[in-house]
Amino acid sequence: MSQWTRSHRDLPLRLNQWCSVVRWEATETKPFFRTKEFLWQEGHTAHHDREDAWAETMRRLDQYERLYEDVLAMPVLVGRKPPHDKFPGAHTTTTVEALMPDGKSVQGGTSHYLGTSFAEAFDITYVDADEAERTAHTTSWGVSWRALGALVMTHSDDQGLVLPPTLAETQVVVVPIWQEDNKEEVIAHGEAIESELDEAGVRVHLDDREHRNPGFKYNEWELNGVPLRVEVGPNEVEEGTATLVHRPDGERETVDAATIDDSVDEHLDAIYAKLYASAEETLEGEIREAESREEILGTIGQHGGYVKSGWCGDEDCEDPIKDAIAAEIVMVPLDRDEEPIHDECAICGEDAEETAYFAKTY
Ligand SMILES: [Zn+2]
Repeated sequence: MSQWTRSHRDLPLRLNQWCSVVRWEATETKPFFRTKEFLWQEGHTAHHDREDAWAETMRRLDQYERLYEDVLAMPVLVGRKPPHDKFPGAHTTTTVEALMPDGKSVQGGTSHYLGTSFAEAFDITYVDADEAERTAHTTSWGVSWRALGALVMTHSDDQGLVLPPTLAETQVVVVPIWQEDNKEEVIAHGEAIESELDEAGVRVHLDDREHRNPGFKYNEWELNGVPLRVEVGPNEVEEGTATLVHRPDGERETVDAATIDDSVDEHLDAIYAKLYASAEETLEGEIREAESREEILGTIGQHGGYVKSGWCGDEDCEDPIKDAIAAEIVMVPLDRDEEPIHDECAICGEDAEETAYFAKTY
């Protein structure tokens, strides 16, 4: 970066890479959460000044929030890491945190404003319009495939994977249900629906395999998380309809085949809304408050989730919680001026500086 930022005209400089990382640390493994190798994206940028670099930090944080909320159907909390848990050398580390159904928090992505410390260390300077040499302000931000782990844990059930339509490789599977004497018409009806949906831009698959019965196909596509199933049998052929079945909860509706594209569109939206609402309900019910060490321990111990408390800002006040139940301060509010939820630190009783969100984590 130091070689690419010679002049103020070279800024902002933005680099991004998608790659795999190997960290030789994992003794226990959990798919997508703790593995020796993982896939991620990391961005690094250099800017003229603090204001521009901070805007970049917030832009990327906002994109991560939208990734979770608009693509993965997962509401998240947006905040800042406490000073002792920042990326080493960063001025500010911001985070999106997602709550899993088991009550543990997942750090979903981080965006760091690095100030000038890295630019000073790596000599990332530029000649400004007034000919003066200045030091750039840098940022970095990343999200890894732990987002997929969080997605699986949030939406899936005992029948297998549940994927939001935004992300599913196959959004709709058409399953024809035929007897020998009506096979041709039923498959033709299924093919017509498949091609109608395909033309409308839906990622659709017709499962006309001969050697598998409909029940087997239902189970298999449910296991794979396909959000919407279209069933077509002799009744649907006769009436010019199709029966739509939602993956998350089995809700079904028979619709006019002539307007199948509009109906499927509406149902895919409804499935997304259903997944989001369910995750949102989990999150909203799992944010509690506590005013003492015992209350924090008891509340997280009993329910999991997040506990908001007044905090003096001293790392030492996190230790008793960490030692007792392995919960930690996963974030504080993004806005440094936000008034703390209580006047006193729940641990030491000194004046609270901000609100800490305690939780167990992955
Ligand atoms: Zn304290």
